[in-house]
Amino acid sequence: MATCTRCGASIGKGDKVCPECGVLLKRKNRRSWYIARVCLVLLFFGLAVNLLNFCSGMSSDSSAPVPKESNM
Ligand SMILES: [Zn+2]
Repeated sequence: MATCTRCGASIGKGDKVCPECGVLLKRKNRRSWYIARVCLVLLFFGLAVNLLNFCSGMSSDSSAPVPKESNM
């Protein structure tokens, strides 16, 4: 159960304002959390790709020609 940050009264799920003091209730922005999660996944994916490239670079012969990665 959520409570008002100003007066501490219990607040219903659908309430947008506090029934006791009338303060505007702010809910956690789900969109920002979603974007943060997407960024985290992209970061993780990029890290995995970098790790994969690093591992393949380590195993390959150093004398072999290095493919260009300018189109990243
Ligand atoms: Zn209140």
